[in-house]
Amino acid sequence: ALYESKKQEGSCHHMVFSDSLQARLQKETRVENGLQQALANDEFVLYYQPIVSLDTHRIKGVEALIRWRQPDGKLLLPGEFIEEVNRVGLIGALGEWVLEAACKQLRAWLDMRVELTMSINISPRHLRQTGFDELVINTVRRYQIPEGYLMLELTEEVFVDSGISSLYVLNEIRRVGVRIAIDDFGTGYSSMRYLKSLPIDRIKIDRCFVSGSGDEQLSDPMITQAIGFLAEGLGLDLVAEGIETAEQAAALSAQGCHNGQGFLFAKPQSSEHLLALVEQQQALSVSG
Ligand code: C2E
Ligand code: MG
Ligand code: MG
Ligand code: MG
Repeated sequence: ALYESKKQEGSCHHMVFSDSLQARLQKETRVENGLQQALANDEFVLYYQPIVSLDTHRIKGVEALIRWRQPDGKLLLPGEFIEEVNRVGLIGALGEWVLEAACKQLRAWLDMRVELTMSINISPRHLRQTGFDELVINTVRRYQIPEGYLMLELTEEVFVDSGISSLYVLNEIRRVGVRIAIDDFGTGYSSMRYLKSLPIDRIKIDRCFVSGSGDEQLSDPMITQAIGFLAEGLGLDLVAEGIETAEQAAALSAQGCHNGQGFLFAKPQSSEHLLALVEQQQALSVSG
């Protein structure tokens, strides 16, 4: 649209603008209908990425990551649709689906004596919706999720610009044993002052400080170390994201970071594959 209006600058600017606005509205309606249909048709699926102990490499929990399996079999990543979902106002509906699916899966694993923690990602906009705390509390009760097994991942922005009401909501949720993590830590508007008073349990070091520099080593060892000190001082649990090499895992472990996730250990995968991975590990530890 920007390109179009430049091309015709001076001539019929107004027309071009209203045309593109209409096109945009039509597109949004298409997207919204598509998403609503996808929810109704059960096209969303959760993949699970292990969160492991960096000392023993044992799987301690998983992070649920949403995928959209389209009718033609194509699997879309959240980066390809989450923003749209937010924009057309369906993030509450999708977030509710994720919470329900994750708790159902968690209950099934607990019933099989597979003891894993479950982390889910919450959009800031969903958190701010009225009744979010009741939704979480009711779901946790319905599936009888024991204390400490469900964790919500939120990005820093939640803590910066949503004020008292979000903090109240998080406190309510924590009262039933649900834990809170700050996701992508170090990339947002972190302020040391607010960190200290927040209702949080875990910090997740953003993967840009860990991998992606094209190097086998940590991309930013000073930052990971500093975040480690911070977490320790504040008594928070620490997880490093995006670990891709053994060197990175070893360096983090030497810095006192005891938990991590990344392609080195496992990619996000279906519940069946995840379960197979856990069972394989259990068999190994029994025989070894
Ligand atoms: P996130 O919560 O920070 O999730 C971690 C992302 O890093 C995932 O991407 C994961 O596949 C990727 N990742 C994990 N290990 C590695 C690694 O070693 N190297 C690299 N390069 N990447 C790694 P994914 O699944 O595409 O998700 C992207 C983002 O979408 C998530 O970032 C999260 O913010 C959002 N998201 C995912 N699922 C949900 C959901 O159910 N609800 C909401 N609201 N957002 C979600
Ligand atoms: Mg996350
Ligand atoms: Mg993250
Ligand atoms: Mg992220």
